[in-house]
Amino acid sequence: MRKIFFANWKMYLSDDDAVALARAYDEGAVSASVDVVVAPGFTSLERVARALAASKVALGAQDAFWKDEGAFTGEVAPKQLAALGVKYVIVGHSERRALGETDDLVARKAATVAADGMTPVVCVGELKEEREAGRQDEIVRVQLETVLKALPPGAAFLVAYEPRWAIGTGIPCEPSDVAAMHAKIRTLAGADAPILYGGSVDPENFASYLGLQDVDGLLVGGASARLADVRAFFEAFSS
Ligand code: PEP
Repeated sequence: MRKIFFANWKMYLSDDDAVALARAYDEGAVSASVDVVVAPGFTSLERVARALAASKVALGAQDAFWKDEGAFTGEVAPKQLAALGVKYVIVGHSERRALGETDDLVARKAATVAADGMTPVVCVGELKEEREAGRQDEIVRVQLETVLKALPPGAAFLVAYEPRWAIGTGIPCEPSDVAAMHAKIRTLAGADAPILYGGSVDPENFASYLGLQDVDGLLVGGASARLADVRAFFEAFSS
């Protein structure tokens, strides 16, 4: 299986910057040995989709609502994302969970995304105090099982293990802890589901994760939105 580099640009970029960065990804992906997905903010999706129309880089979205229609002011329906050419949708990102999203809500989002023919990227991960209490396996298992029960049979999905204390903090998880958690996720998710690691990945440390068994790719936030880091990633992926 080719490894996956999944870029979450969060709320960092203007539309113009997102399009310019998408072009850099397009160029880098030509000779890269990884599959690449970029998830711009909602308002940039259409322009980035056009910029990547003939590209090997796939389009992702950072979130979606759990229904496809109705009186839900301010929400974005999975069906609307599919119509823009989105192939992957992040659900349950820690920054959404911090705003109150529950496992049940994440599961409903994943189910709707899958029913609309896109691939949910199911983020799971424990808080710092949960790891300190040794509860990380239980937390991740419940998060993932809740989603797996809700997905239509045979639906494709990705899992992203993102310890919540490692996201955007500059404190990455020890590779040995990542390997241990990915092995546990593999037993729940099955052989076919790619499992990504995310949490303060940068051009200096990414190789220590990509070489691990059961790490099928990376979900990268901050560094994926910085041109110099993006160039460094692609240089490594092309060598
Ligand atoms: C993320 O947004 O999923 C993420 C892992 O962020 P960062 O790489 O900035 O920690």
